[in-house]
Amino acid sequence: MATATKPRRATPKTHQTQMLIDGKWRSSASGKTFATINPATEEVIAEVAEGDAADIDAAVKAARKAFDSGPWRKTDARDRGRLMNKFADLIESHIDELAELETLDNGKPLRESRNADLPLVIDCFRYFAGWADKIHGQTIPIRGDYFCYTKLEPVGVAGQIIPWNFPMLMVAWKWAPALAAGCTVVLKPAEQTPLSALRLGELALEAGYPAGVVNIVPGYGETAGAALVNHPGVDKIAFTGEGRTAKIIMRNAAETLKRITFELGGKSPNIVFADADLGKAVDGAVLGLFLNQGQCCCAGSRLFVQESAHAEFVERLVDKVKKRKVGDPFDADTDQGPQVDQAQFDKIMSYIEKGRNEGAKCVAGGSRVGDRGYFVAPTVFDDVTDRMAIARDEIFGPVLSVIKFREIDEVVERANATDYGLAAAVWTRDIGKAHAIADRVRAGTVWVNCYDVFDAAAPFGGFKQSGIGRELGQKALDVYTESKTVTVSLD
Ligand code: ADP
Repeated sequence: MATATKPRRATPKTHQTQMLIDGKWRSSASGKTFATINPATEEVIAEVAEGDAADIDAAVKAARKAFDSGPWRKTDARDRGRLMNKFADLIESHIDELAELETLDNGKPLRESRNADLPLVIDCFRYFAGWADKIHGQTIPIRGDYFCYTKLEPVGVAGQIIPWNFPMLMVAWKWAPALAAGCTVVLKPAEQTPLSALRLGELALEAGYPAGVVNIVPGYGETAGAALVNHPGVDKIAFTGEGRTAKIIMRNAAETLKRITFELGGKSPNIVFADADLGKAVDGAVLGLFLNQGQCCCAGSRLFVQESAHAEFVERLVDKVKKRKVGDPFDADTDQGPQVDQAQFDKIMSYIEKGRNEGAKCVAGGSRVGDRGYFVAPTVFDDVTDRMAIARDEIFGPVLSVIKFREIDEVVERANATDYGLAAAVWTRDIGKAHAIADRVRAGTVWVNCYDVFDAAAPFGGFKQSGIGRELGQKALDVYTESKTVTVSLD
């Protein structure tokens, strides 16, 4: 494995560091700022306006006004779609700059920001632009002399709180369905990665979104985030992040009975049967866990391998993992950049220690890389048992646990023995076995002979404690609309 090269800084640029409220860029009411850090160098990139309750209040009032009485309310659905397509075109024409900004703030390899995150962002906006004028109700044959129909109306002001692992893609997943449905939004980006959302805000204004439709308040969760959840002017909260935070949000949102959707963590089972194409399964296991430095809610972090294929599979897996290049995320051949911050780095290192202490066999990685930046070697533990912490807890880092199994009923039961239910995958050439797993595993997404295949048209979200509601696809519109039943007497 290569050691971390000395990460170079991206070309210094002027970053947008203020908050977007009512179509204008402002400092925070308190005048406070917070630093955002380049995780590859541990250096400060910029000081960003730190929002709290006063700024959230101003943003919600702007969003409320734009929704209740602004021109947005009267904007034709088709024009909402055209505006979103224009926004997508603008993002596309700034794709290189946006990808660099994402890599600078988050640490993910530029190759991935440029060729995976950004294309998915653009596609998401274009997909939902197409929905804007296709969101409609039904006519319903009720008893009696009445004409009854339903309308789907925007839910109102949507408060959206997002994490740092896919900063721009999470903006797209939140804004696209909300704006297509006619909502207005107040976004609270993650404190670790506020820069790309702010740049998207600039492009949204340039596209022509009216004042107050899109508002962005950077800041911390316990202050700005909590104020958004508590605000009575917000109709709905969409949150992506940790289950622990979601529980706090659910309690706070109960006060005003807000609609909520959650996309939370996972400990997703990736099940490899001995009859699988082992080469493809190894590639899928590596992608499924190590993509984005292991910082994916759907990471295939419990790799169940059938006993008869285990020795060969692990040998090929370790060989591939050891070849991953860790280093400067701006280098074209880097596979893995730094973790996002010190806290994540420390958490991952503590789980590696727990894995060793609990008796799992570390067969790749297991240490820090370099002495600057939050780089962790791609790590594989073999001989992991179900009760070990590394098999139970979401680590959110490049640590893969290999677990042996013998047969299908046993692996289904063990795969389901978790509070999570976000994703799962199965690798086999037996179509019956593949469908049986897809049927019996309790997860919102099941990949068969593939992993991490995302599309704006395919709903994504969790069973059990992995979430409430779905993002993407037609399903995402459900959570940004209210159904209204209108009954007209024909007498
Ligand atoms: P992570 O560990 O991925 O940072 P969190 O759930 O802590 O996950 O954070 C996800 C998002 O939730 C961030 O934008 C964060 O600021 C926000 N957040 C954290 N705590 C709260 C809270 N109490 N209320 C609202 N938002 C919060």
